[in-house]
Amino acid sequence: MEEILKTIASDIFRQDEWGQKAQYIPELAGIDPRQFAISVCLKDGSLYSAGAADKPFSIQSVAKVFSLVAALGRVGDQLWTRVGREPLGNSFDSVLLLEQENGRPRNPYVNAGAIVTTDALLAGRAPKLALAEILCLIKHMSDSDSVYINEAVAASEQKTGSRNKALAYYLQSHGNLYNDPELTLGTYFHQCAIEMTTAQLAMAGRALASLPCAPKVISHLRARRVNALMMTCGHYDGSGDFAFQVGLPGKSGVGGGILVIAPNVASIAIWSPGLNHYGNSHAGTRAAAMLTRATNWSIF
Ligand code: GLU
Repeated sequence: MEEILKTIASDIFRQDEWGQKAQYIPELAGIDPRQFAISVCLKDGSLYSAGAADKPFSIQSVAKVFSLVAALGRVGDQLWTRVGREPLGNSFDSVLLLEQENGRPRNPYVNAGAIVTTDALLAGRAPKLALAEILCLIKHMSDSDSVYINEAVAASEQKTGSRNKALAYYLQSHGNLYNDPELTLGTYFHQCAIEMTTAQLAMAGRALASLPCAPKVISHLRARRVNALMMTCGHYDGSGDFAFQVGLPGKSGVGGGILVIAPNVASIAIWSPGLNHYGNSHAGTRAAAMLTRATNWSIF
């Protein structure tokens, strides 16, 4: 594994094309896209990394996986009355389908769906408590205390996130937002601003991969479902292409992170902040494809 990751990292650093930065979040726009890290946690609990695996990055939409796990833990299958389980085929912050489908977001990994999931997690509590629940869950899953929220990134999105605000108020107009939209949005922006390293993220994915070394935070059936949604919806309208190239469930974020799950085999975290035209990490997707080709981990 060490050799495979070393080869992947040196291939990535040889490339010229790193993709674009997430321009619409000012705090992330200043980052150098030519950075890369990969970490893999195996069944026996061993962790292998290459690149800047100890550098914290903004996990952004990868957090949607953890808030989904937390919300399912809190409200169970009831969540599916408010959010669907189908892929989108539109951009991640699109309002179009939401309008056609009466305010029921297609899935929990598009922004509107994650805003509803966050709303379910909030359920009349102070945002601080809901955020503490997500952070505690991630810390427990990653077996690490040093996972934190970057307030500057959260504030940056709070200032510029008109699209997400529009989605929240639209959801409210359809009766699919139970809390004050500003409170739900504040909680959502803060969960997106969680920062951690690929080493920590790979550790956090162990429970979703049902690895024996993982803490028992989610049932096998629920992990399978969360992974199924990662496969079909985890890369927005680039999900089909990710399945085609990589063949494993994955969740991306505009910070350039990707969590990839090889069920019963490994948990993988990759980071490279340059994005492709779908808004997914350019080098990260390439690295994930190289890894599954080298290991035969594709589930197809
Ligand atoms: N915080 C970002 C947003 O809500 C997350 C998007 C992403 O990572 O894909 O727009």
